[in-house]
This record gives sequence, C-alpha cells and structure tokens, in this order.
Amino acid sequence: MTRFTVIKLIPESPLSLKGEERGALQEVLKIYLQREGRIEEFPIIPSTSLKGALRGIAEILGRSMRTDGDPRRKLMASHRREGNRIVHDVSQVDELLKHIGPEERKLLDRVRSNEERKSYIEYLSCPICRLFGSPGIASKVRVSDAIPVVRPAFHYITRTSIDRKTMKVKEDRLFTEEIVLGSEFRFVIVVDDLDYLEEELFNKLMAYLEEEGLQLGGGKSIGRGVMKVCIGQWETR
Ligand SMILES: [Zn+2]
Repeated sequence: MTRFTVIKLIPESPLSLKGEERGALQEVLKIYLQREGRIEEFPIIPSTSLKGALRGIAEILGRSMRTDGDPRRKLMASHRREGNRIVHDVSQVDELLKHIGPEERKLLDRVRSNEERKSYIEYLSCPICRLFGSPGIASKVRVSDAIPVVRPAFHYITRTSIDRKTMKVKEDRLFTEEIVLGSEFRFVIVVDDLDYLEEELFNKLMAYLEEEGLQLGGGKSIGRGVMKVCIGQWETR
C-alpha cells in the first residue's frame, strides 16, 4: 500500500532559505513557475532539507519509543550516529532475521563477510533506517520539494556578521540577506508498504509535527523558519 501525505507549512516567522551567494548578498533559493499565464519566481524548500529535518526528529522519537523487550524495538532504541556511520547495539541477530522478507534474504545470502551481513541485518530491521534509508538500503520515505501556494513577499535585511572566535562584530562584514515572509508551502511525503513498527514510528512523526511544528532553513537560533504544520492523508492500493 502506498500512502500519500500532503503537508502544509505555514510560516510563523521569516524564513531564511539559502540560495545563491553573491559576495555580501545572500539570495533565497528560487524556481520559476507558471501561474495564471505568467512566469514568476517562487522560493523553494528543497526535499533534501525537509527529509533531513524529518529524519532528525524520527531518530529522536524512535530512540525514545518503549521497547517491551522486543528485539526490533531494542535495535531502534540503540540507533545512533558515530561520525558518518549509523550504528546499533545488536545481540539477537537470529530474532531479527525472522522479520526479513524472502527477497531481502536472497540478497543477504550473497553477503560473504560476517561484519557486513550483521550491518545489513541491522539496517533491514531498524524502522528508522528503513524509513529514511541507510547504506545499501533505499529509503521508504520519499519527499517532494515544498512550493508556496501563493507567491510570498521577499524582503532584504542587512546584518553584521559575528566573528565566532572573538564573538565581536566584524566591522567590514555587513551582509544583506533575502528572506521570505508569509504564504503557505506544500509538499508531499510518499511511503510504500510499511510494516506495523515502521507505521507506528511514521504516525508518531506526523503527530509530533502537527503538535510541535517544524523549524526550517537558516537562522534557527534567532527564531527564523518556524512553521505550523497541517497534515492531510490518503491511501492507494
Ligand atoms: Zn537504524
């Protein structure tokens, strides 16, 4: 079953979307769209930033879900990053194998090295890794870019930049940044064939977004990019 989720993002603070940098001018990432016969520039929130934000939240939610002694739940609770790698603590590899489908077992049988086989079993069994992808495994979650429903206002603001070492304002480093105000963005999340545990995590993620919203783009520490989130869903077979 394929599940489509349409997500509405309503900006509650100015949005800083890094696009092209031209010297001291930072422009918003834009695309051209035809609306009512006219071609206009629209800001865009790229799918990679959206997916990255969702993944970050899912990792925290997945690690904090109850485990009830279940091997896959325990595996998910141990999911973490070490540098560029994703690692888990696994003890019951045989138990995990029971949940792996016949197609994937065929591939698994071809993996020779024991270490690689163990990682592959972890990635196939962990709901966070299945939803958002891991080395050698495609992500079950696909995310589109977010595009505004109506063209928002663009605004330029000039700021100083702070030297991170001395925490002083760099006199010669004034820069102008383009920001986006208002409008409503929409994007789509498509997920295929989730099992019960992946679905539980996905539903938790959606509930979290509706409750807490999402913060996107640059300048998070100064309150930029706060979004209210509204969710609509439908399913096809
Ligand atoms: Zn994982």
